[in-house]
Amino acid sequence: MRQAIGKLRTSGKTVALVPTMGALHEGHISLVKLATQHADAVAASIFVNPTQFGPNEDFAKYPRTEAEDIKALEAAECDIAYVPTVEEMYDKNATTTVQVGSITEELCGAFRPGHFDGVATIVTKLFMQAQPDAAVFGEKDYQQLFVIRKLVADLDIPVKIIGAPIMREADGLAMSSRNRYLSEQERKIAGVMNKTLHEAVGKLRKGGEIEKIIMQAKDALLAGGFSKIDYIDARDAKTLGKIDKIHKPARLLAAAHIGKTRLIDNMEI
Ligand code: AMP
Repeated sequence: MRQAIGKLRTSGKTVALVPTMGALHEGHISLVKLATQHADAVAASIFVNPTQFGPNEDFAKYPRTEAEDIKALEAAECDIAYVPTVEEMYDKNATTTVQVGSITEELCGAFRPGHFDGVATIVTKLFMQAQPDAAVFGEKDYQQLFVIRKLVADLDIPVKIIGAPIMREADGLAMSSRNRYLSEQERKIAGVMNKTLHEAVGKLRKGGEIEKIIMQAKDALLAGGFSKIDYIDARDAKTLGKIDKIHKPARLLAAAHIGKTRLIDNMEI
């Protein structure tokens, strides 16, 4: 990976990396396309990273569609696809991890202990392996994007981080590899997430009380068929810190379950 990218860079080209876990959809492809606008060449990695999954999460059943993914990357004019195995990526005696701290204990971090340590560690490894000029991450995983910006700032990693907007289905559902898990009926329920957040954002913009609006949104998700809510929260969009009054920029973030599938979404307030 480093050699392939090194060759491009010594020939004077800039390279952007798009890290993914595969099972690619239009959201991922939009990242590749955005990357082409920021660099001369684009590399995408496909790696279902075991260290970011909890013991009771879906690592084993996470969709793996490598052949189709490679075709989709080729069609999007991605220059390099990097598809390492778990054994290649993690030495069995490795003991070093990267912990960003603080914010990684909140929001998704509170419900997925160790998740962001796994993310920070694999992204650091990918950056060291690939040594790209830039890397593109989706706002779909808004907290992850924040954690990665913090990681490169705190550790002086010379990679420019580019955030990409969320790609959605016709009913507003944020595209996700995990949407494949949904049955036909669950897929209908999933559309309620975006609609509910949209309504809540409308009320928040009008100056409604945050706590009350969040309670109403939680009720709407449960009434719409969601089985469990991890959180819905309004945060400062830049620091992800808690807020008690909506100010600019703010972001509404949510995670909730439909049966065995956990969905996340977020929206600018
Ligand atoms: P994943 O394969 O789920 O780890 O996602 C790889 C990258 O694609 C991450 O930076 C995600 O934030 C981004 N991504 C996933 N879904 C979407 C989407 N619907 N719109 C934009 N970016 C996305």
